Amino acid sequence: MPQPLLSTDQALATLTNAAKVISTTESLELDEALGRVLSADIQSNINVPGFDNSAMDGYAIHLQEEQINKPGALSFTITGRIPAGMTGAELQPGCAARIFTGAPIPQGANTVIMQEECEVSEEGNSIETWRPLSLNENIRPMGNDIQSGDTILAKGITLKAQDIALAASVGISTLAVFKKIKVGIFFTGDELVKPGDELRPGQIYDSNRYALVAMLNNLGCDIINLQHIKDTLDDTISALNSLQNQCDLIITTGGVSVGEEDHVKPAVEQLGQLNLWRIKMKPGKPLAFGQIGQSAFIGLPGNPVSAMVTFLLFARPFIKKTQGCANYLNTHFKVAVDFDWHRPKPRREFVRVKLDQSTLPATVNQYPKQGSDVLSSMVWADGFAEIPEDTVLKSGELVNFYPLNTMML
Ligand code: AMP
Ligand code: MG
Repeated sequence: MPQPLLSTDQALATLTNAAKVISTTESLELDEALGRVLSADIQSNINVPGFDNSAMDGYAIHLQEEQINKPGALSFTITGRIPAGMTGAELQPGCAARIFTGAPIPQGANTVIMQEECEVSEEGNSIETWRPLSLNENIRPMGNDIQSGDTILAKGITLKAQDIALAASVGISTLAVFKKIKVGIFFTGDELVKPGDELRPGQIYDSNRYALVAMLNNLGCDIINLQHIKDTLDDTISALNSLQNQCDLIITTGGVSVGEEDHVKPAVEQLGQLNLWRIKMKPGKPLAFGQIGQSAFIGLPGNPVSAMVTFLLFARPFIKKTQGCANYLNTHFKVAVDFDWHRPKPRREFVRVKLDQSTLPATVNQYPKQGSDVLSSMVWADGFAEIPEDTVLKSGELVNFYPLNTMML
């Protein structure tokens, strides 16, 4: 039976529609929560700041009605001193309190003048000011940042330093996050040799295993790695069998073509169900997607560039959605190509390009070798330029750019 031919958009939509958000959550201390996905909205129970406070080191003043915005010199008696963390007594009309950044504005005070804008008398018991003073200068009002009841963090965000800090600022000490998803992996191909071992004729070093482990670590997955297995149907079946009940997802690379050495496809079909797609894209093409027991299955192509590109474009959004991320799609932006694309191609191409941000719009130029086996292109590139199918382009025309630095974390 011929394999269905899918566009990249159809493949991505099918995968992400099938992805089910993991249902288990755990509660973590703030220091443990970096990079994890929040599983519930967070509300604040307090105002931040919790009280009107001074934005400056200076003097809190009780301006009287007739002193507001009045030109000329004014004098105030110093009757208090309020460091941050303390509270001051009520301030009488015409009086001032020495105050420090973050200290609460005392009752009666209605403005703060910075210390650089006033002169303290020789005795140190009064200050003089010269410019007109308005109400509420240098006062940070209660609830200026956050009001009690505000939703401060939304379910589905991946927690960053600033999110954790905001939770801390409202007094929250633990955060509910989705449990890490478990991803089982193994690798097929009798030609593959572990780095560090010696190559015999016809053999190559296994690089996909390391690419996959690193990319899954970037996504914060728990990895169950069965390593390299023998390229037989029996070994493939037992590998899948041992993973299916303990994993949310199984990923393999290679062995999903239709050659007789490709055992992953029949093994998955025997244990569960499998769709094998030919995707109208380059690099890539064969991509397998299925289900074995509790576990989803994604079979990536064997060629190293194809394996990485299809992982980033398809498996990554699938994993992020499963992990509970609200924004699981890859981000991209428009750039100008610095090359002509002379002939329309039937497959969408994800060209490895370098980004030049010194121009407006930013421009991209392509690595000279775009073969799916040329792993150096991934190291050289800043990202992928998406060249639509059946299209010709002139230098300067705009295409989508997928930055590697955002997909590799
Ligand atoms: P396959 O999809 O198994 O036919 O593999 C396609 C190509 O990718 C072949 O040239 C394989 O040798 C190569 N390949 C498969 N798996 C790996 C791997 N783990 N690391 C590096 N190259 C691989
Ligand atoms: Mg193979």
